[in-house]
Amino acid sequence: MKQKITIITKNNQETKKIGYDIGQSLFGNEIIALEGDLGAGKTTLLQGLASGLGIKDLVNSPTFNILKRYNLKTRLTDQSIKLKYFYHIDAYRLKNSQELKDLGWEEMINDENSVIAIEWAEKIKDILPPNTIQIKLKHVNEQTRQIIVKFINV
Ligand code: ADP
Ligand code: MG
Repeated sequence: MKQKITIITKNNQETKKIGYDIGQSLFGNEIIALEGDLGAGKTTLLQGLASGLGIKDLVNSPTFNILKRYNLKTRLTDQSIKLKYFYHIDAYRLKNSQELKDLGWEEMINDENSVIAIEWAEKIKDILPPNTIQIKLKHVNEQTRQIIVKFINV
């Protein structure tokens, strides 16, 4: 069943908190596809999400090239969950999805202990697996954003 949640945030800290809560609930083998215009809050949400996953050095707005990988530590509270990597992808500069495949996409999505988050995911829609968690961010006004999270309950 497809589930949809709509959230309104009134400042960037609230968006970070949404990301943090999502990050805390992840346990590997998740793909998170973010859509939304420049300044919608994709990176802000991912900063919170990374922090929820236990990453200390913040996820920057990607001035880096397309893909950045972070090491994850297994949460002390749950030793049965083995988290390995968090991949932060910015698809904005990709010409097509083949370019991402050339960067090792198949290996990434087949690694059960990793979490992948993609900004500008609309650019690579054709290679997203059906169980991808979709997050759409919309600019409502200067400080307000609408965040729609869609996921499939299996
Ligand atoms: P994107 O990655 O989608 O281009 P960023 O997260 O880099 O967007 O930038 C969002 C900008 O909007 C930041 O400067 C942030 O401070 C600002 N902002 C204002 N209100 C919000 C909000 N409610 N949620 C997220 N960001 C907000
Ligand atoms: Mg961004």
